[in-house]
Amino acid sequence: MPDPSGVPAREGSFLHGVSETCLDKGRPARSLIGTSNGEFTLTHEDADHVQTAVDYVNFLRSFGGAQMVLERRVHAHEKCWGTLDVGLYFAHRRHLDVIDFKFGKGVYVSAHGNTQTRIYGVGALALIGGANVDTVGLHIVQPRHSSSKPTEESLSAIDLAQWARDVLWPGIDAAEAPNAPFKPGEWCTFCPGRAHCRALANQNLAVAKAAFGAPVAAPPDPNTMSLDELRVAMDASDLLRKWLAAVEERVFRLAKGNGIPGWKIVNGQGNRAWVDTDAAVRAVEALGADPYKKSPVSPAEAARRVAKATDMTHAAAARYMSMWTQRPTTETLARDSDARPAVSIAQAFLEQPQK
Ligand code: SF4
Repeated sequence: MPDPSGVPAREGSFLHGVSETCLDKGRPARSLIGTSNGEFTLTHEDADHVQTAVDYVNFLRSFGGAQMVLERRVHAHEKCWGTLDVGLYFAHRRHLDVIDFKFGKGVYVSAHGNTQTRIYGVGALALIGGANVDTVGLHIVQPRHSSSKPTEESLSAIDLAQWARDVLWPGIDAAEAPNAPFKPGEWCTFCPGRAHCRALANQNLAVAKAAFGAPVAAPPDPNTMSLDELRVAMDASDLLRKWLAAVEERVFRLAKGNGIPGWKIVNGQGNRAWVDTDAAVRAVEALGADPYKKSPVSPAEAARRVAKATDMTHAAAARYMSMWTQRPTTETLARDSDARPAVSIAQAFLEQPQK
């Protein structure tokens, strides 16, 4: 089956590879700027994101005595496996850290109650031997998302193993049963079969029909929709958007290949760039304007500069970690299940510009 996961997933794989190189070879991400896999090239901005992920792992490692595994396939069950980004085992503390990097900007993923990181944790326990571990930290680092710092779910090894027995393994058995039903939901987002899945397509068409009626000349005006109609449309909006993105990705590939009636590939409009940067700087200066801007370095860059200038102690590292935050940029809608706290209506009112 062709992988419709598209550009973001392939870009994520590329950045995972860069992160692994940084951790394996002890190289700063900025030393890899310009590295390319033919499709993607590491930019300054993404080097800083990679460094944030690498700094987090190095912060955990700074507690000493960690054995580290990178990009290791682990099995949580004979039919369920995954590739662990980073595993840190501290034998003297009988503690295991499992770190999952996410380089997506769109969907915020928390480690709390996260099935994927728990599967990695169960697989890592099997790798090390559950009898050698008391506590497990399951971490997600998502540096390109603006809303959150890394998240961690802490479990005892016994509780994690119990979850595998009570929830994971019965779920795998149910999915493997003959004629197991297809059940579309939020989890379809990362399914490689979503562009071809009949169950998902049927659900999306049913939702579209319920929201728009059929046949219609145009979708209804949101201002005239009832609360129930708005909720039905919103409940399905993620799935519809992602399904359409998968359809667009497939049509793009078809248009690039043998073509598809009614569609073609055209060049996008690029950003403006100086033809000769030095000449442009001189020209702007000659006109009496400053061609440069000065701004503070990012937290990731500051950490590198401070670490170079001093031997960062644990206390200094902990203090540094408390000095930066990732402020939410704008208010956004989220489902009730989202781990972020809701903005209270009173707070939202107080933050309105006062006239
Ligand atoms: S897209 Fe289809 S096959 Fe994939 S998870 Fe959703 S329902 Fe299952």
